[in-house]
Amino acid sequence: TNSNTDPPSTHTTTTKLPPGVVLGKDGKPCRSCSSKASFTAWAQQAKSSLRSSAGSATGFTAAAMAAAASTSSSSAQPSANDCPADVETLGRSTWTLLHSIAATYPKAPSPAEQSDLKTFMGLFSKLYPCWVCAEDFQAYMAKEKIRVGSRDDFGLWLCQAHNAVNTKLGKDTFDCSKWEERWRTGWKD
Ligand code: FAD
Repeated sequence: TNSNTDPPSTHTTTTKLPPGVVLGKDGKPCRSCSSKASFTAWAQQAKSSLRSSAGSATGFTAAAMAAAASTSSSSAQPSANDCPADVETLGRSTWTLLHSIAATYPKAPSPAEQSDLKTFMGLFSKLYPCWVCAEDFQAYMAKEKIRVGSRDDFGLWLCQAHNAVNTKLGKDTFDCSKWEERWRTGWKD
């Protein structure tokens, strides 16, 4: 890993994380598991801790300064929006990719295409950068076997999987009879 951009490798027990910051399995704040607001609050906290204590007493390493600086809206940044993905940006982009794969999946896929999609989704569920999301999605896939027999099978399975996440997050569910309109044909006038 690059110590210039990684979040701090150590925390003292006296450093309280802002609400909503999810730790990675390595014990560091996980950006792709946390909202932008939470992660930015943590970065600002880390930065002010460093300023007030010159770094050592807080337990944050020099890497914290670099990580915190990298999330600030300093004018040295090319754009305040050019940041690593938080849990929502990552999620939105990922759902776009997955539903778009469903939209272009064949109506009558060959055995090889079905096998490719199953393999892709299995690996995807293991590699998804937000580990808490990934573990829940793996559990969902273990319970609700993926359906890859046709475009409609996969599109509906994916819509239901997305709805399970919506429900977990307290969001409205999507009407799955409209998944193709949303992701393939466009809305009817
Ligand atoms: P999104 O949920 O990202 O949806 C994008 C668009 O898809 C919506 O605007 C809507 O038009 C359409 N849509 C919504 N529901 C459906 C559906 N059922 N079928 C088809 N289209 C639909 N975030 C967490 O905080 N915790 C988690 O555990 C978590 N797990 C995730 C697991 C996976 C596999 C993925 C891909 C993302 C996960 N996320 C998680 C991110 C979360 O699902 C959202 O992407 C994020 O909160 C942003 O939500 P949003 O409201 O912008 O819309």
